[in-house]
Amino acid sequence: MRALRFLPHVVASLLVGLASLPAQRPSSWRCAHVLAEDGASWRDDMVVETLLSNIILVRPARRDEVVDRDFGERWLIPGLIDLHTHLLLQPYDLQKWNDQVLLDSDGLRTLRAVRFAERTLWAGFVAIRDLGTEGAGYADVDLVKGMAEGRLRGPRLYPATRAIVQRGRYGPEPNDPSVKKGAQCVDGVDEIVAAVREQVEGGAAWIKVYADYGYGPGGSVAPTFSLDELQALCDEAKRLGRPVAAHAQTDEGMRRAVLAGVATIEHGAGGSAETFALMKEKGVVLCPCLAANEAIVAYAGHKGPIVERLNAAKIGFQRALAAGVTIACGSDAGVFTHGDNAHELELMVAYGMRPEQALRAATATAAKVLGADDLGAVKAGASGFVVLDADPLQDIAALRRVRAVVREWDELNPTGR
Ligand SMILES: [Zn+2]
Repeated sequence: MRALRFLPHVVASLLVGLASLPAQRPSSWRCAHVLAEDGASWRDDMVVETLLSNIILVRPARRDEVVDRDFGERWLIPGLIDLHTHLLLQPYDLQKWNDQVLLDSDGLRTLRAVRFAERTLWAGFVAIRDLGTEGAGYADVDLVKGMAEGRLRGPRLYPATRAIVQRGRYGPEPNDPSVKKGAQCVDGVDEIVAAVREQVEGGAAWIKVYADYGYGPGGSVAPTFSLDELQALCDEAKRLGRPVAAHAQTDEGMRRAVLAGVATIEHGAGGSAETFALMKEKGVVLCPCLAANEAIVAYAGHKGPIVERLNAAKIGFQRALAAGVTIACGSDAGVFTHGDNAHELELMVAYGMRPEQALRAATATAAKVLGADDLGAVKAGASGFVVLDADPLQDIAALRRVRAVVREWDELNPTGR
């Protein structure tokens, strides 16, 4: 079972493939428009051929060709990817974060997560990086195991397990050492290194660290770990083959995380032009979590469009875009409704990206962050695709009109749920 612990998502794919006993002969799927590998144009009247769990060929349809499934006048795109979710959380307007962490059992939270995983998949998101169980231990790894057994349906899941934070710098409130916390609290290099090892042993595919948080002077957001501490965390994660995602909203928190060697910055609202330039130089990717920011402002009672003052995420996103930082889809779903992940891409377009840039953020770019060669494009070797009822390059909101999610050669029809 060693492989299951260390490469859970890969094993999950294989086991699901075996469990559903896919046809040994190729299957053919016709569609009027298939997204080209450039991610910005359509190839018209195409056939996608699949065998076992892979696309083997994408080619023009032949005259009068009979196919296994004809999607007609629709748009076929790669499966979508969200690099920042929390399946173990439900939206805070349903239940406050504090109460979820403190009052609900891991069992109840995991039961909800099973449903949230299905919803996410039906929304066309075939892979997610789940960035912390927020107090629910290693329940995300249990979800991976459940999917590997073929009993649960959901996106391919890259778990980060507990996440790492500096002692005294994370909720729930009251800020009291005897109160259960939403992440693993550590102090100093030795505890940081031990936490990385423990989480990797528990099944973490990524390490998530809070490089800053809202327990600074007067409740302000302030950096947590020193550069040396973050460096030790990244070095140990690297030794164990795990990339690091850093929650960071302050310029200094972001700067330290980038210098320490993280792969992605989550939120990034307060980044200066210099720090975004540093991110670009080091190839660090931004997941702006625009949808979560919007939800949190709404939960605080603000109605209507968000004024600039409250939308630091938008300012950070636009600064990053101007600086040429690579931006990927990371929505922080869980703060808001699972399955509404595409809202992140709608906001990216509303705040200045072209639709093809936003689509790329959730496909080719995100696949590269995950190191997943079988995701991100409709091409030979890819492990699935999504069919839409409308053209997302014309209107990004078309991503909400999912007709089918074809993966491991199960066709999930979201209209039938
Ligand atoms: Zn988050």
